[in-house]
Amino acid sequence: MSSEHAGNAGPENTEPEGAAPEGTGAEAARDDDPGTVEDGGVEDEAVRDAADGAADVWDVVVVGAGPAGASAAYAAAVAGRRVLLLEKSELPRYKTCGGGIIGPSRDALPPGFELPLQDRVHAVTFSLEGRFARTRRSRRMLFGLINRPEFDAQLVEHAQKAGAELRTGATVIRVEQHGPAVPDRRTAAVVLADGETILARAVVGADGSASRIGAHVGVKMGQVDLGLEAEIPVPQSVAEDWKGRVLIDWGPMPGSYGWVFPKGDTLTVGVISARGEGAATKRYLEDFVARLGLAGFEPSISSGHLTRCRTDDSPLSRGRVLVCGDAAGLLEPWTREGISYALRSGRLAGEWAVRVAEANDAVDARRQALNYAFAVKAGLGVEMAVGRRMLAVFERRPGLLHATLTGLRPAWNAFADITRGSATLGGMVRSNGLARRALELLDKRMDTSSGVGPAGRGVTAKERDTAGSRGAEDTEGTEGAKGSEDAKGSEGANGSEGAGTGA
Ligand SMILES: Cc1cc2nc3c(=O)[nH]c(=O)nc-3n(C[C@H](O)[C@H](O)[C@H](O)COP(=O)(O)OP(=O)(O)OC[C@H]3O[C@@H](n4cnc5c(N)ncnc54)[C@H](O)[C@@H]3O)c2cc1C
Repeated sequence: MSSEHAGNAGPENTEPEGAAPEGTGAEAARDDDPGTVEDGGVEDEAVRDAADGAADVWDVVVVGAGPAGASAAYAAAVAGRRVLLLEKSELPRYKTCGGGIIGPSRDALPPGFELPLQDRVHAVTFSLEGRFARTRRSRRMLFGLINRPEFDAQLVEHAQKAGAELRTGATVIRVEQHGPAVPDRRTAAVVLADGETILARAVVGADGSASRIGAHVGVKMGQVDLGLEAEIPVPQSVAEDWKGRVLIDWGPMPGSYGWVFPKGDTLTVGVISARGEGAATKRYLEDFVARLGLAGFEPSISSGHLTRCRTDDSPLSRGRVLVCGDAAGLLEPWTREGISYALRSGRLAGEWAVRVAEANDAVDARRQALNYAFAVKAGLGVEMAVGRRMLAVFERRPGLLHATLTGLRPAWNAFADITRGSATLGGMVRSNGLARRALELLDKRMDTSSGVGPAGRGVTAKERDTAGSRGAEDTEGTEGAKGSEDAKGSEGANGSEGAGTGA
């Protein structure tokens, strides 16, 4: 982090236009300073690239082409802006995910998007650690199941049709908002692994749960979970048993659960639990698969991934950079459903990035970024708060939840309404007095009001605390940083990225 940045971070930074951080003396000095020439007059490569490409500044650069990034790129492109979508993998790429598409996901798709459904869910079998199984059925479809490679690639195609340009094999290592690579105050620099610098008026970070852009913004996590999954090809006779029906098993560790999602001749079988219980989570998956009689079938893919949920006060922007989807820790804390959060926050990020791109000064850019944060918090933030409360109840009383869902028709109807998208958990708690009172009663027994996941599950001290020390320039908060560990422990080593960006 540069010193000029550190000195002017935080929500209280209400200096008038032209004041810190972008109009500090330090930066003014840099603008015409031979400091851009290093070591005996050898011009810094980044400066030369930036200067050469100054005319070629994208309106919006989106990092990551998952549902959040594709949605953001689509939204900015349909607004007529020049949009570049950067993705480190070649598409289509695999993503560890159940591929459950609930109503709010369907509602957030671009017009004309046809879901590549592998199955339509009309029945749910609930069990409690393999026992007390009960199947509930619905004539109307509850939710859909997709394969992520296909779904994500199709979303990207829609963004491209709307005018966004896609570059795959482009790994972003950092974003800079100050320093020699940044030609002026209206621009941010996105630096790729091969050293190339791309300039943008606004940047959207949609690079998933081990997000480098999230680290730059200072996203702070309150809950981290580990999901393990196996894609299991099965014979037709087994596939027929599962057609149109999913299984949800409330698991042995607090807050854990498992699922079977059928997709034609393949079953996606997975479990999720708080990070830090890797061996127990793995054992849960093995036992779960064996119990279902599927141990004899060789998985085509076995993988794991962390999910991360933001704290209430975590920032969603920094300067000209907005974050969305998993990169922002936007995920339903109880079910860890994240596709609808990615699509919805991605669309908002794309729309507000357009306005950030148009902002001529830091104050206006900040105002637009704040509007984005308000929009996210007013919708997804409220839903997340209820989800945290549900998780707290579920962690303590999984049996109660199981009995309620399988034994009480109104509870099942509520579940069905939420998956279909005709109601939200937040809306239900607001409008249904009985649900609200029941939750309040349970709340009294467990403190879930902190905006942090129950007991800060799975979160390292660094993920919870460190952004404050980096002085993230953010309009909503100054704290928060996240580590980079994913399920494989290798991806996105970004714990100190924010500190090293010069941002
Ligand atoms: C086991 C498991 C099961 C799940 N099941 C469901 C489910 O059934 N339904 C549901 O709604 N949600 C589910 N989720 C959550 C869901 O997968 C995520 O919330 C969702 O993928 C978030 O989308 P995203 O676009 O934010 O991030 P991602 O889908 O992770 O996309 C991020 C993209 O950024 C790219 N990227 C990363 N770093 C860089 C970089 N440095 N430079 C360039 N590109 C980069 C990645 O390659 C990737 O394409 C599940 C999660 C897990 C772990």
